[in-house]
Amino acid sequence: MSKVILITGGSRGIGAATARLAAADGYAVAIAYHQNVQAARTVVDELLADGHRAIAVQADIASEQAVGHLFTTVDQQLGELSGLVNNAGVLDKQCRVDAIDVDRMQRIFSTNIIGSFLCAQQAVRRMSTRYQGNGGAIVNVSSIASRTGSPNEYVDYAASKGAIDSFTIGLAKEVAAEGIRVNAVRPGFIDTDIHASGGEANRIQRQQQVIPMQRGGQPEEVARTILWLLSDQASFCTGSLVDVSGGI
Ligand code: NAP
Repeated sequence: MSKVILITGGSRGIGAATARLAAADGYAVAIAYHQNVQAARTVVDELLADGHRAIAVQADIASEQAVGHLFTTVDQQLGELSGLVNNAGVLDKQCRVDAIDVDRMQRIFSTNIIGSFLCAQQAVRRMSTRYQGNGGAIVNVSSIASRTGSPNEYVDYAASKGAIDSFTIGLAKEVAAEGIRVNAVRPGFIDTDIHASGGEANRIQRQQQVIPMQRGGQPEEVARTILWLLSDQASFCTGSLVDVSGGI
């Protein structure tokens, strides 16, 4: 049987690229999406047409109940989980900290931080030898924003990614002796829809000159690093934060 992987936010951008590479590497792939059912269907139909095992599950990762249902569905439809990519993440319109309202703060933190915690809890309960699991790997998708702070854009988002870095280090140490490795990738400017949701679809073009490699990255360039961290090739890596950022 193929290894089973769950990728949150696997319907678009970095998550969709990771789903395609994971399937090509032989994983049975579950993707979780929030609202855009058509995008999720497109990814899954493509994987199925290529002969892979794949499912899409609607779930708001900020909801404990929805996350429970998501993991149960993966158990039932694909089998024993061996990998989780905590990729789903959101940001909001560019503005200063003094203009961020509390509803927005709660939405950013509950999706980016609490959502990643809830999914990791479910994965640990399945993969840890402490729970009679057979081990596995978790990759959290952080951001270089965790060290740049994203001033005048979205400090709330950057702070949520700072929390993901600490979460990665702490969880890695908790489960290192239980057969689970936990690492993070920290992408830089990657060509996806997320910049449009911040109100500036051409953000990468504006920032190009400050990137040492003078270009934005492609989702596949992040996905390859995620797949490597999930694989046995990274067997002695845990608690690592790997920048995929063109040198920024
Ligand atoms: P994207 O293109 O905007 O895609 C976001 C994905 O997350 C979609 O599949 C979306 O599903 C899903 N999602 C959003 N909220 C969700 C929720 N509450 N529950 C479940 N799924 C949810 O984003 P991306 O650029 O690929 O980013 C992926 C990750 O990389 C994020 O964590 C982001 O912070 C990080 N990152 C991106 C960049 C970059 O430059 N692109 C840089 C650094 C870090 P729906 O389509 O159904 O809404």
